[in-house]
Amino acid sequence: MKPDTRLTHAGRHPDKYDGVVNTPVYRASTVTFPTVGEMGRRFAHRFDTPYYGRYGTPTTNALEEAVAAAEGAAFGVATASGMGAIAATLLAVLAPGDHLLMVDSVYAPTRKFCDSALSRMGITTTYYDPLVGGAIADLITPATRLVFCESPGSLTFEVQDIPAIAAAAHKAGALVALDNTWASPLFFAPFTKGVDLSIQAATKYIVGHSDAMLGTITTNERALYERLKDTLVMYGYSTGSEEAYLGLRGLRTLSVRLERHQRNALAVATWLAEQPEVARVLHPALPSDPGHALWARDFTGASGLFGVLLHPGTAEGVPAMLDGMTHFAMGFSWGGYESLILPTTGSIPRTACPWPHTGPSLRLHVGLEDPADLIADLRAGLDRLASTPEGSTL
Ligand SMILES: *Cc1c(COP(=O)(O)O)cnc(C)c1O
Repeated sequence: MKPDTRLTHAGRHPDKYDGVVNTPVYRASTVTFPTVGEMGRRFAHRFDTPYYGRYGTPTTNALEEAVAAAEGAAFGVATASGMGAIAATLLAVLAPGDHLLMVDSVYAPTRKFCDSALSRMGITTTYYDPLVGGAIADLITPATRLVFCESPGSLTFEVQDIPAIAAAAHKAGALVALDNTWASPLFFAPFTKGVDLSIQAATKYIVGHSDAMLGTITTNERALYERLKDTLVMYGYSTGSEEAYLGLRGLRTLSVRLERHQRNALAVATWLAEQPEVARVLHPALPSDPGHALWARDFTGASGLFGVLLHPGTAEGVPAMLDGMTHFAMGFSWGGYESLILPTTGSIPRTACPWPHTGPSLRLHVGLEDPADLIADLRAGLDRLASTPEGSTL
């Protein structure tokens, strides 16, 4: 089955629901059993059939099945947020005394989880250069249990050589987890590149409409799947049916939305790269991007999220630029149908390899608006930036 056909049909069972196209929203905490014997049988299959609300409902199970199929995995679990998926992955795999290799360009709250929660549990983290490739082998110790990747990285958008990292990790007996949110399940096929556990902040493109928090983890290993489910249930990270329904609804149109996000973002990024106020655009689908060759080798598309570096000395103009935007709103998260812009200056934490850019930086999510309107909005914003006393030196 081709990806678009999978997105349309995966996790749907109209035959079970009187022909209704979508799996209904099951509001459920208690699941009742007619006999003690059935209760025992349900316990034995608690990871796969409704047993108690925290384990899942037919609605959350449908989402798990659909996202697993979309990412090319056998098993999926749904969580209350993307961060819940990251925490559950780390807690399911790691134990006190273990060592974690974490990419230096990771989503900042993931870094905080490692430095606080994992550190308190006696799990040590070493941050590594996103561009390390096969040389990750030199950082692996006998205690290394997991190599965590995110590609392209949050805010800085470096593309990682996942197959090379996975080969080295597996040779040393370590697992590989990937935060695959930027690519969505459509533009990077994690399980053909050596990944063992793939994470989606489904809040972003899978939900796609900025109206729900949701996460997923997928894997091909039954044992890992059961460990993940056990962890979710223990920590109470499971999600509700309403959110799962919104995730399923978003998934059905993911392909058409992403195609447009990709096209609009490339138009805006290409235009931005030519503006005098812009030092560099961080977008791996641009041929000039240092990550372009790896992106072209491993990805089948680019989403709508990328970075912009402004010239040093223009920081003072950034509020003037951003406060006056018409179509770009300022706010966290991304992946909805609408465009967002965020100042990222000073919020790029690095410990393994320095981030050399000293000027202001921005992150853009390009939505489904007409790119001509977005470009006009950005040009007016750059004019405001350039008209501050500092900016006039550009
Ligand atoms: C937003 C995001 C997350 C966290 O997702 P939430 O649903 O907000 O918890 C994780 N990873 C990446 C790359 C993200 O952009």
